[in-house]
Amino acid sequence: MRVLLVEDDNLIGTMVRLNLEQDGYQVQWQQSGEAALKALTDGRFDCLLLDIGLPGVSGMDVAKQARKLGIGTPIIMLTARDEIASKIQALDQGADDYLCKPFEMKELLARVRAHIRRSQGSLELTTDQEIKIGAATLNMERRALTTADGKVHELSDKETVLLALLHRNPGRALSRADILEAVWGMDASPTERTVDNFIVRLRRWVEEEPDRPHHIVTVRGWGYRYEP
Ligand code: CA
Repeated sequence: MRVLLVEDDNLIGTMVRLNLEQDGYQVQWQQSGEAALKALTDGRFDCLLLDIGLPGVSGMDVAKQARKLGIGTPIIMLTARDEIASKIQALDQGADDYLCKPFEMKELLARVRAHIRRSQGSLELTTDQEIKIGAATLNMERRALTTADGKVHELSDKETVLLALLHRNPGRALSRADILEAVWGMDASPTERTVDNFIVRLRRWVEEEPDRPHHIVTVRGWGYRYEP
């Protein structure tokens, strides 16, 4: 397993690299955003640990740029800023998770393990490249959703994973907590409201009549159920 660590603080970088290597990861350590982007385009990594406050290109911009380039590697942001705004911004830029300094090394390692496991789980879905979901067709590899009107929508990682989760569980009532755990994992920041917002967006594409959903059905006081 290869991890790209981007951190300009020598002490933190040394500690994180040492702990990752002790857990058997191959670590490439870069200290600037520019070097990180070059490493990301040159090589393949299973996880990206990304400090937000970097000289030059910030960690936020690295995440944004990586997603633009279609790099789906799980990104865990590391930051000194324990503010809700920067947390939301990190997730908006395509990060999968967020850790505030100082963090426990054990927690960092657990999150790296969890994100690698989850991303490999979702990669397995690419064997079944096109899935029909409601009135739309999802191409797992391209993460593109073709709606009934022939329009193609590019989905985020989380939208893709959420649709694939629903598709794998036809007829089963999934609780909002189940969905949060499966799609957002250990990151505590999204709330159950986040799930509802994602569902509203997906319904616009998947349902013939988004206001009267027949495929992604609300289960009152619980969550959602997918009906093929
Ligand atoms: Ca820094």
